[in-house]
Amino acid sequence: MMVFVCLGFVACGNGEPSEKGNSDDNGQIIDENGDPGNEDQDNGYHGDENGNDTENGSDENGGENGSGEKDDPDSPWNIEEVSTGMYAKLDVPYRSEPVHDGEVLGTVERLEFIEVSGMTDNGWIRIETQDSEGFVHSRFLSEEEPELRTWGSGQMEEEMLIVSDPDDIAVIANKEIALPFDYEPADLVTVDVAFARISNYRLMRQEAADALKELFDAALEDGITLYARTGYRSFQAQEQIFTNFVANHGYEQARRFSAKPGQSEHQTGLAMDITSDSVDHNLSQDFGGTPEGEWVGENSHHFGYVIRYPRDKEDITGYIYEPWHIRYFGVELATELFESGLTYEEYLGLK
Ligand SMILES: [Zn+2]
Repeated sequence: MMVFVCLGFVACGNGEPSEKGNSDDNGQIIDENGDPGNEDQDNGYHGDENGNDTENGSDENGGENGSGEKDDPDSPWNIEEVSTGMYAKLDVPYRSEPVHDGEVLGTVERLEFIEVSGMTDNGWIRIETQDSEGFVHSRFLSEEEPELRTWGSGQMEEEMLIVSDPDDIAVIANKEIALPFDYEPADLVTVDVAFARISNYRLMRQEAADALKELFDAALEDGITLYARTGYRSFQAQEQIFTNFVANHGYEQARRFSAKPGQSEHQTGLAMDITSDSVDHNLSQDFGGTPEGEWVGENSHHFGYVIRYPRDKEDITGYIYEPWHIRYFGVELATELFESGLTYEEYLGLK
């Protein structure tokens, strides 16, 4: 069977990874190696990260076409045999098993065209290399050759790989994969929550806006008052903010807390920066240690959000600890991320 079937929940072919930078506007990000106090939400994780084996094996006990590794009772995932080729969207390790901590066997390079022989029901793709086979998350492979675009000049110049499916709720935008430069979500709405004194960006995509209102309302019921500050930001707005940061802080520093245009999660319409009276409506790492910040860290996943740039993960996400930047993934994926204690990059096996 040569059919190439897209897995429902992982959207083959799109979602490029990228480490968007949450460029939180405004200056007060300063203390980037923050307050020792709060150890954020890394509640060590609950083992079995290969989770999603929900639908359990059994199934095609075929045997007929000689492929049958899906019938291995020890494997929590099923593999559908396919025969095709796909492009890598970025440099990504391939692993011995379709789980985030499978052993790294090698790396496929950005734009490399690789032979694909199987797809698992937990969202991974089996690839064939010259000397071995391995697994890469489907979010990092594409059936079509990815588009490259160049932004910036001089030191800032970068050739960016552009995601093909920016509307996917699980899209990954980061320092390695960018949104289309002209991308603006079609379903932006003004979020119906309290805003901070300074807030010029009050839009989010409908689904994320509805979920944020639920989150804020639930917080209020627990005596926690939150304020939204920065939601959707266009490519052009991000361009202006980033270049201003570079002018004021230098390129290397600016990259630690601000995203280049195209690489910001704020352009997805799925991220919001939030704050509280206790930090004077600023975007401060101190927020993580306040009752408001702790409530957000412990409860956001119930509403589909996660703190996207946790403490001590800068080498993975590319960004300093930002307890104020929450990203919508939908309840199911947000809960998996929260319970695993992993960043999205780790969860997908990229890091
Ligand atoms: Zn942000």
